[in-house]
Amino acid sequence: MTDNNQTTSNTDSVLSTITSIDQLQAQFSRLQALSRTQPILDWATRATQLDNLDALLSDNQTRLAKAISADFGHRSVSETQFAELFPSFTGISHAKKHGKTWMKTRRASISPLYLPAHNEIQPQPLGVVGIMVPWNYPLYLAIGPMIDALTAGNRVMIKMSESAPQFADAFAKAVAHYFSADMVCVVIGEVDIAEAFSKLPFDHLLYTGSTAVGKKIMAAAAPSLTPVTLELGGKSPVIVTHDVNLESMVNRVMMGKTLNAGQTCIAPDYVLIPRQYHERFISLAKEWMQEHYPNIDNNQDYTHIINHAQFKRVQGYLQDLPADSIHQLTDVAVNTETRLMPPVIVTEPAADSDVMQNEIFAPILPLIHYETLNDAIQFVNARPRPLALYVFGNDDDDIEKVRTHTVSGGVCVNEVIIHVAQHDLPFGGVGHSGIGAYHGKTGFERFSHMKPVFVQAKINGMNLLLPPYGELFKKGMALLLK
Ligand code: NAD
Repeated sequence: MTDNNQTTSNTDSVLSTITSIDQLQAQFSRLQALSRTQPILDWATRATQLDNLDALLSDNQTRLAKAISADFGHRSVSETQFAELFPSFTGISHAKKHGKTWMKTRRASISPLYLPAHNEIQPQPLGVVGIMVPWNYPLYLAIGPMIDALTAGNRVMIKMSESAPQFADAFAKAVAHYFSADMVCVVIGEVDIAEAFSKLPFDHLLYTGSTAVGKKIMAAAAPSLTPVTLELGGKSPVIVTHDVNLESMVNRVMMGKTLNAGQTCIAPDYVLIPRQYHERFISLAKEWMQEHYPNIDNNQDYTHIINHAQFKRVQGYLQDLPADSIHQLTDVAVNTETRLMPPVIVTEPAADSDVMQNEIFAPILPLIHYETLNDAIQFVNARPRPLALYVFGNDDDDIEKVRTHTVSGGVCVNEVIIHVAQHDLPFGGVGHSGIGAYHGKTGFERFSHMKPVFVQAKINGMNLLLPPYGELFKKGMALLLK
């Protein structure tokens, strides 16, 4: 890692970082005016923005990872590298490799009835894109949408989370250094600024965060008819089929639940699993913890809970459960002061318990039994549609059945979480877990107007359709309407 902060300087550093509602309005108006006078940015300009993003990350990765760690009390730097920096760098490379092709006007098919005319799709930048970032992966969830919006030729305003203030500050400084304020600016502040931000008449607003706030964002965007992409949360289930390799399944599920201490939107939230596997699951999970997070009370690889409000919320989930349903996976107790929370499994929590009514977003893993695969599928389908669904098993028919009969934002088969890093797959939710998707080409199109253009030929048959409607027209219509 290097931390060389020497690169392009910003001509308007005041408005690169916005901290008040007045500045917010002024900078938005300025970016909007620019997007109307210079609506189309060529590939060279877009590629330069991607290069700036790449340089910002390359030169500041240690600083940014340390800021995230400070916000969490402790966030493993390796996790920041693996889960935030790596997909950011590969996302930039992917966009640089394909963006020039994505932005080209392309032919679309046409019915022979309209020949020799032809159809085209012409991607155009939308203008000014707003991005709202949560605290759990504050780097990747700022950079990911920026990659797509900048590749599509937009200007960008980003509202950072007030719950990760040190990262927000470090990120704002870095953006001011690497980007012109005419292209990208960062907004810092509490919920009042977030509310004002969500009311700005952006050409598109991408919000990542909780479903509850997502509803407020959609309401705030409605008066200006601002199109929204909502990347929300929810309870992402794991379905373990009867024919399964238990060891490798537990390995992947535990990786997903312990990454960022469970504070991951697509973390496995709960596990539907035949009852005869419960005990073995718990003992394998204990062994897994010993192997991968030994001495968890002093382990640099394990992340802490972001703040006291979140810590209190998730500890509260455990208080209401019967003591014999809670299975500690380590012999280390929670530390309220440092917000260290070693993972626990809870068996058969009631459907109306807090832990089953809310997205857990912490290292608590419920195991719930089912009898038949249909029961497991019905359990999922009786609840709001999840952001992710994970199915484990060796029987292709079982896997196919689960994939086909459930609806979720995305799916991994015999894996968790990794689908988010596939730049050739759209990423997003469905129903209460989100509206719209982005990443890669899907993200480019999300932030573009894919303008349909019909190009008429010099010689064409349109005059045959003009009034007065005579015999020729009637015969033609009779043929067409058959
Ligand atoms: P949050 O909804 O509290 O905050 C997200 C953003 O919304 C922040 O920038 C905040 O400033 C802003 N905000 C808060 N209250 C607001 C209001 N009243 N009006 C306007 N803006 C407001 O979410 P969070 O706690 O930061 O993040 C956790 C949630 O995000 C979880 O539910 C998680 O599943 C979800 N999430 C989803 C994804 C995804 O890609 N789908 C990724 C990460 C996190």
